[in-house]
Amino acid sequence: MKLLNKIAVITGGNSGIGLATAHEFKAQGARVIIIGRKPDAVAAAAKEVGGDTIGLVADVSLVADIERAFAKIREQVGRVDILFANAGIAKFLPIAEVTEEFFLEHTAINVKGAYFTAQKALPLLSEGASIIFTSSTVSHFGMPGSSVYSMTKAALINLAKTLAVELAGRKIRVNVVSPGPIATPIFGKMGLTEEAQKEVGGAILAQVPLARFGEASEIAKAVAYLASSDAAYVTGTELLVDGGMAQG
Ligand code: NAD
Repeated sequence: MKLLNKIAVITGGNSGIGLATAHEFKAQGARVIIIGRKPDAVAAAAKEVGGDTIGLVADVSLVADIERAFAKIREQVGRVDILFANAGIAKFLPIAEVTEEFFLEHTAINVKGAYFTAQKALPLLSEGASIIFTSSTVSHFGMPGSSVYSMTKAALINLAKTLAVELAGRKIRVNVVSPGPIATPIFGKMGLTEEAQKEVGGAILAQVPLARFGEASEIAKAVAYLASSDAAYVTGTELLVDGGMAQG
């Protein structure tokens, strides 16, 4: 129970890594607020996590939506101790095929969304609060077709470093978790056929020293560590949970 009585907000908390983290936070004693884009999925996830879990609908690419969500959190619970800015999308195209729309969709969700999630949470963050951004192992090497996605994820590493210094006066810690390939629904949202998904999966796997995909629960445990007082002296850093992929 390392997060007893903590109030934890998770964006993209209705699926994959965010949902696994919602379960982990709850198991560690936190009260969880899930923010997601799809009303049905958010309601189902809040029910699945159970107890006093709250589900809120917001599209993090819209600053007004984020603002509305934190206004509700202010009303309903009054403060935030843990902010897991995790919502994100991942699609892959060679640079020659990237359109302005594709570029802006990724930056609007992965960068602008994470940035304004942190900004709008700020007035509610308690002294000693923990912010964790979800980056990716691909921030550390070149992967063909990932120029837009990898760039958005690399941006979050510097954002965490900068905010760690800027918010240290309030004892707010800011860190990044960088997953390797994790078996989540994200792979089904890339617009690939099942066959292409398998091919991409195989190619990725060949680059992972531990020779397997990770589990969402393995990322959740790393996030819970960064959120807890075990990481009280850890700020501005990145925890790679990638089976060694970035070292290959
Ligand atoms: P997922 O698709 O299961 O979850 C993504 C979540 O983000 C969903 O809940 C989705 O609804 C939410 N989301 C997307 N756009 C949103 C928006 N505009 N507003 C609000 N919510 C939105 O995928 P996942 O694998 O759990 O991904 C979680 C995070 O982990 C993402 O940021 C992703 O880039 C990152 N990541 C995933 C992997 C992996 O291999 N699965 C690896 C590295 C990093």
